[in-house]
Formats: sequence, C-alpha cells, structure tokens
Amino acid sequence: MLTIENLNVDYGGIQALKGISLKVNENEIVSVLGANGAGKSTLLMSISGIVTASQGSIVFDGQEISGKSSSQIVRIGISQVPEGREVFKGLSIQDNLMMGTYHHHSKSTKQSIADDLNRVFDYFPRLKERRTQFAGTLSGGEQQMLAIGRGIMARPKLLMLDEPSLGLAPLIIEDIFMILLALHKENIPILLIEQNAKAALRIATRGYVMEAGRIIMEGKASDLLEDKHIVSAYLGG
Ligand code: ATP
Repeated sequence: MLTIENLNVDYGGIQALKGISLKVNENEIVSVLGANGAGKSTLLMSISGIVTASQGSIVFDGQEISGKSSSQIVRIGISQVPEGREVFKGLSIQDNLMMGTYHHHSKSTKQSIADDLNRVFDYFPRLKERRTQFAGTLSGGEQQMLAIGRGIMARPKLLMLDEPSLGLAPLIIEDIFMILLALHKENIPILLIEQNAKAALRIATRGYVMEAGRIIMEGKASDLLEDKHIVSAYLGG
C-alpha cells in the first residue's frame, strides 16, 4: 500500500531523514518509534506532502506521490492526524469534523456525509453529546478524539497519526488505541508515530525504530516488545 525507499529530507544544513525505507501493507498497523528529534514527524510530513524530500521515493497505492501537494495527497487517500491535535478551536465539534470532508464534499451526497458523521459519533459518543460546543472547550483527550474523527471524515485509505498519546492520561490513551484497533478491523491501514512504545507495540502489527534520522531496527511488534535494546531504551527497563 505504502512503500518508501531511500528517503532523505534536509532542513537547510540539517539532514533530518537519512535514507529511510519503510512499508505499510494493507491491513497493518505499523508503528514508528523513536526519541525526540529522531525524525518521526518529518517522516509523516514528507509522506503527506508538507515537507519535500531531497531524494527517494514514496509510492502509495501504485503511484509516486513524492513531489505532490498535500491537497493532492489527501485526495489520493492519505489522512494525517497531526501532533498536538491542531483542531479549529473557534469552530464547533461538528464543523471541525466537516473540515475533514472538504476534498470530497462537492462529490458526496448529504446522506453519505451524515453516515460518516454518525460513524464518528459511534466511535466517540462524547463528541456527539457536545457536537455544538466550541472545540477549544474540549479536554486534551477529547480534542485528540476530534482530530481522529476529522481524519476519518476524509475517508482515508491510510490513516497516519503523530503521537496521539502525547500528554494524555493512561486510561484515555487506552480508549484511543482501542479505537485505532477498531479502525484497523474496518480495514483502514494505520501508520502510527509514537514515543509511547509499549502502547503502540501492543496494537501494532509491525514496528520500526528511528534514531537520528535512520531506521535502526524493524520487526514484528511482538518481537520488538521482547527485544533487549527496545526494552532498555524505550520500554522502561
Ligand atoms: P519529536 O518526538 O520531538 O516530535 P521527531 O522524532 O518527530 O521529534 P522531527 O520533529 O522530525 O523529530 O525532527 C527531526 C530533526 O529535524 C530534529 O533535529 C529537528 O530539530 C529538525 N527539524 C525539524 N523541523 C525543522 C525545521 N523546520 N527546520 C530545521 N530543523 C528542523
């Protein structure tokens, strides 16, 4: 579904990605782990067209997407839930969700959009209760649910999330990761960037570990959970 080969990204003189190769197959949750500054967000932003790679290829669903604009990439079917949620705080919850439909809104029937909205509300009943409330009044966990809901409204063929657990309490993280598993069961492949290695590897099919712009390890999530280096460096001993 997604194949990245030898991807390099430079910010001026800083080489943030150094020859990254990675795959996400259909029906997979792939997790990318790494400490601050490893290059995880840069990787997601280069897939979604926010950052331009200096070298390498990104093929999605059979077509090269490297060099395409972010709006083209959303239309092709990749939806990114950004780090820090980035909801529109002065808009209602429902209007935030509708923002996720902008690229297919004119081609979609009212009924299909209402069905998508109900699907998001089934996943996140708290958003339904508060649909008319300003997004800025939601808690951090609720804003994360809203950002994921907005991603679902875009009808993604691949959903990418940048540190959805950041700053959230363990019980909320569990809720959110259970929703990711449910989305995966609906056949939406997921690329999940996380510092919370334990939570991410528990739901992932496979994982990659990044350090200083490179992939230093990859494997089945169940194997990574037991790997000595991963346990000591990322799983707390
Ligand atoms: P975190 O978990 O802290 O978000 P990360 O793994 O997502 O970190 P990136 O944000 O991708 O890492 O950063 C990778 C490297 O690129 C870092 O050294 C960072 O300082 C640098 N970097 C990121 N964005 C820019 C930018 N716009 N200009 C210059 N350097 C940047």
